[in-house]
Amino acid sequence: MDRRSFLIAAAGGLAPAPQVITVRGPVAASALGFTLAHEHLFSNFGEPPQEPGRYEEPALLAAVVPYARSVRDLGCSTIVDGTAAFFGRQPRLLRRISELTGLNILTNTGYYGAANDQYVPAHALQESADQISARWLAEFRDGIAGTGIRPGFLKIGVDPGPLSPTDRKLISAAALTHLQSGLPIAVHTGESSESALEQLSVLKSHGVAPKAWIWIHANKVTGLSSLKAAADAGAWISLDGLDPDTMPRHLELARQLKEWGRLRQVLLSHDGNSFRAGGRRPMRPYSTLFTHFLPLLRQAGFSKEEIRWLTVDNPASAYSISVSIF
Ligand SMILES: [Zn+2]
Repeated sequence: MDRRSFLIAAAGGLAPAPQVITVRGPVAASALGFTLAHEHLFSNFGEPPQEPGRYEEPALLAAVVPYARSVRDLGCSTIVDGTAAFFGRQPRLLRRISELTGLNILTNTGYYGAANDQYVPAHALQESADQISARWLAEFRDGIAGTGIRPGFLKIGVDPGPLSPTDRKLISAAALTHLQSGLPIAVHTGESSESALEQLSVLKSHGVAPKAWIWIHANKVTGLSSLKAAADAGAWISLDGLDPDTMPRHLELARQLKEWGRLRQVLLSHDGNSFRAGGRRPMRPYSTLFTHFLPLLRQAGFSKEEIRWLTVDNPASAYSISVSIF
């Protein structure tokens, strides 16, 4: 039981139903339905830093809305958008797309320290973890940049290898923010096993439990020991680079996690992008899960219930607002 549930139980009350914060406001986690746990409706990744993201809006909407509708028609009802501040986050456009498609969409707060800190704003290089956390908490309380749209999770990025001082500070700031807000901490970590375990130890030093942490791009991990260690500790494992070429590896990892009894902690997604770099790069689809991977999972003997965990129940728990302490 987490501290909040304990306090509520101790007070003799009933715990309120878990909630998720979407760009159109909080919804019950149980209402999310089929969720893609890590995608990008659009981004300016690879372009110079900018916040908020600036786009040719008619071109963006003309590309993204019909595609997002087609994914909704395949059975998707919620998309977690990982486009971070300074590489194209634009909550107002996400809300517009949510209204036009009926999809639930989550946006984020936090800073992306991968890609050699090029998307970390200058102030964050100077400020303490507490000062950075205060900025993110302000977005959580008041909404992002006057839009009134609140983030549903923390999106952090770290470079490969041992945590740099800046990346370590960002993880500390995320821990401090989590303790005050209950926002889940999704970290672009990729193949860096070393950093994954180091992040968990930084979180622990702040009293934050691994179940608050989502290992983004865990599908890129090369060895399995850190994946097992993170899963055994209670972390969320995001297998999010799905496309027809990567499916065999995703299936292998899903089987492995099932064998370890950790399927309840696995998230599936594409890391797709329906409008890359202002529409100047080819889009990356986020439909393979529906068209190819679900049939493959069924063929491989994954039960209806297990598939529901991966696509509905797990993302609803991972992205619920809840303070997880040791
Ligand atoms: Zn991504």
